[in-house]
Amino acid sequence: MQAVRSRFGELRPALRNLGEAAVEAERCLSCGDAYAPAPCAVACPAGIDVPGFIRALSEGDPGRAADVIFRDNPVGGSCARVCPTPVLCEGACVLEHEGERAVSIARLQRFATDYRLLGPGASREEQPEGPRLGRVAVIGAGPGGLACAGELNALGFDVTVFEARPAPGGLVRYAIAPYRQWQEPLDEEADRLRRRGVTLRFETPVDGPQALRRLEAEYDFLYLGVGLGEDEALDLPGRDLSGVDLALPWIEQLKAGRAAAVGERVAVIGGGNTAIDVAREALRLGARDVTVIYRRTMSEMPAYAFEVEEAQAEGVRFLWLTLPTGFIGAHRLQGVACQYVRLSEPDAAGHRRPEALPGTDFVFPCDTAISAIGQAPRRILAEWIPGLEFQGGRLVVDKETGRTGNPRYYAGGDAVNGGATAVQAVSDGTRAARAIGRRAQAKGVAK
Ligand SMILES: Cc1cc2nc3c(=O)[nH]c(=O)nc-3n(C[C@H](O)[C@H](O)[C@H](O)COP(=O)(O)OP(=O)(O)OC[C@H]3O[C@@H](n4cnc5c(N)ncnc54)[C@H](O)[C@@H]3O)c2cc1C
Repeated sequence: MQAVRSRFGELRPALRNLGEAAVEAERCLSCGDAYAPAPCAVACPAGIDVPGFIRALSEGDPGRAADVIFRDNPVGGSCARVCPTPVLCEGACVLEHEGERAVSIARLQRFATDYRLLGPGASREEQPEGPRLGRVAVIGAGPGGLACAGELNALGFDVTVFEARPAPGGLVRYAIAPYRQWQEPLDEEADRLRRRGVTLRFETPVDGPQALRRLEAEYDFLYLGVGLGEDEALDLPGRDLSGVDLALPWIEQLKAGRAAAVGERVAVIGGGNTAIDVAREALRLGARDVTVIYRRTMSEMPAYAFEVEEAQAEGVRFLWLTLPTGFIGAHRLQGVACQYVRLSEPDAAGHRRPEALPGTDFVFPCDTAISAIGQAPRRILAEWIPGLEFQGGRLVVDKETGRTGNPRYYAGGDAVNGGATAVQAVSDGTRAARAIGRRAQAKGVAK
């Protein structure tokens, strides 16, 4: 494990001590007031009071800073590591817009939360008192499920989280790139919730209609924080050749500390953040040449532009307007068959489709090809839960409340938005918890 870890230096390393944190915190202009909240706080999907926690740090109180963060985000330590802050809080920082370096909000958030979770500042968590509002089952212990559970607990519900896997965190644990986060502090974040009274049941998949009917009999409301399913497979000839992999199992192996198999020349197929992560991970694992193959151009890539630029700076190459048509090799992969494409004129929805250019076929030589074209939705849920509906692979919910077509079920996170960020899942989970709270209050659900 250590040998693999050493190749993945952190992109956002911890601040060393309170002095360093206080100096950085002092740079904050404490923007915002009761009438106009600070831009950084507005840009945070979890709604963390950013100037508030930074003020606590500048006053030398990391424990209070952590409490401000955890109030809105129980996985604030993980989000400090993985959030795409250049397009969120740090991108909104007024200093950045004045031509200076933005306040390192994420590193300050990490400093404060680490103090509580991993450092000397662990607090004795109090279990909320008072009459219980009802019982809620949360399905999935990803960031969205954990945030929903945390907020429900704070509101006065008895909450049980059912998770299929042996540990908390969802994709944050199994998929997010190790140069952002390995696993810690996910266990500590889950433990904190447990100490506050949330019940966490691992290796407990809710795997069919009977299991759901049992939960419906026992709980007042259910939250679906189930994320997305397995990788979509590229249905091309040669896909079973040795050397052809799918992104998620490949990354999961890496995150378990076993160096995922990687050859000298690696082709990564896809244009999203996962493809960029896989390419950067392959470089760190020792691949000599890593190329991302994408069927549109850089402007259409769903990946963040800043991450594409970081990958390019590290040496990742890109083949744009290139469509893979098969995998070539006898038993082992020797190359990806490709064809150049051009983009059609925009259709009514503004989409430009790739159109094959005849006579442009070629083989891109490589010994590893990793397909990263996205995850499949968990559509089976619509067969198990009356009233649940999917549209274009997304679970349909009411935008204000996260309530699904079945009034006892709420949902959020990747299952609903088709795949976004950990902090967006946190925001969705919190929104649903608050909506459940309002509804329970209105209906007097308390048992
Ligand atoms: C390769 C990759 C890299 C990423 N990098 C970043 C990043 O750097 N920063 C960032 O913010 N986001 C990143 N993301 C996105 C982020 O991980 C997700 O948006 C986020 O984890 C979604 O949270 P969630 O709670 O909705 O679902 P998930 O994290 O997918 O969690 C869902 C949980 O539900 C469980 N589950 C599913 N079905 C059942 C069932 N029937 N019974 C019980 N349990 C069940 C699953 O086991 C899982 O633990 C990345 C995603 C990928 C794929």
